Amino acid sequence: MKNIFDNDDIKEFRKLLDSSERIVLTCHMRPDGDAVGSTLGLYHLLKSFGKEVNVVIPDRVPRSLTFLPGVKDIAVFTQYDPYCSRLVDEAQLIIMCDFNTAKRQGDLAPVIQNAECAKVLIDHHREPDIPCDVTFSFPEASSTCELVFRLIAACGFYNDLDLNGAMAILTGLITDTQNFTVNCSDPEIYEIMMRLLEKGADKKTIVDEAIKSTSYDALMLNSFALLERTRIFPKSRCALVVLSKEDLKKFNYQKGDTEGLVNMPLNIRGIVYSVFMREDADCIKVSTRSKFDFPVCDVCKDLFNGGGHLMASGGEFYGSLQECVDLFVEHMAYYDRFLPEKLDKLEYKS
Ligand code: 5GP
Ligand code: MN
Repeated sequence: MKNIFDNDDIKEFRKLLDSSERIVLTCHMRPDGDAVGSTLGLYHLLKSFGKEVNVVIPDRVPRSLTFLPGVKDIAVFTQYDPYCSRLVDEAQLIIMCDFNTAKRQGDLAPVIQNAECAKVLIDHHREPDIPCDVTFSFPEASSTCELVFRLIAACGFYNDLDLNGAMAILTGLITDTQNFTVNCSDPEIYEIMMRLLEKGADKKTIVDEAIKSTSYDALMLNSFALLERTRIFPKSRCALVVLSKEDLKKFNYQKGDTEGLVNMPLNIRGIVYSVFMREDADCIKVSTRSKFDFPVCDVCKDLFNGGGHLMASGGEFYGSLQECVDLFVEHMAYYDRFLPEKLDKLEYKS
């Protein structure tokens, strides 16, 4: 496996690890498999080195990830604010995983950003803007978990990675690639998977727990969304899925229930990108996915104060759901210029 890192960065990272006894690992709010997997992967490794290490995250781990060893040790800021703040204050090193901008930590952001200790960022989103002592930013990586594995290997810690750590890291690799269906062209990620399987990581359990673990209500909500709340815009090759507060309530919506919904319209031949808007309590959460390098990150950046990856991005809108829909529909034609020249026929009759 090639070493993708700058040798000085690795040296500096190792120095920071060696000189820090109290380490905090943290990730973005609404944590996904990659966020939880990358922090827990490092957690198990650093604990085995005898460090006093804590995972401090903005809000709760979704039900689908509670199978991961170590989840019970995670300190959740929305539940134990003073405790989390104290852990951060006392830390000598903070390792931030899977986010590129402080805002993605919500109310935990100022606590982390104001901490005066050394900081390291490990991430695969575009254009990170967090000041750090060492930044490992690789937007081309499949997942932060891939980067965590590569870092562990580059630091010479591979033999120290135990089964718990391997489970966590493989979870992020699997969830961020949607079980190796997107962002999975780099042959080396299969080598990484092989190494993790060799450690005993159980791929079937990860897929069953983290992916194939929807509730009946969630399945019905997603079916309803596709059947009743999806509009196709043939000229722009876009599918727009919109769920209101009332829709969510009707199906007893729980956090995480619409995970993956935004991907579904991309299965339609001829559709290039998909936009999902969900009316949450505090804002309209926007989630986008695309094919053929169509830059949905620009859509999120321009219209929804967000960002992410070229073909998987998100943002937030503060206003009514209708205003959010209108804003997007008004600007949609602008993005037609990014559609590929050669398009599959879109078989669609409204
Ligand atoms: P998702 O659609 O799964 O919520 O997010 C897709 C990608 O976009 C993720 O990599 C995530 O980090 C990024 N993303 C989601 N929401 C936001 C947001 O509000 N702001 C920014 N900058 N990125 C986001
Ligand atoms: Mn990720």
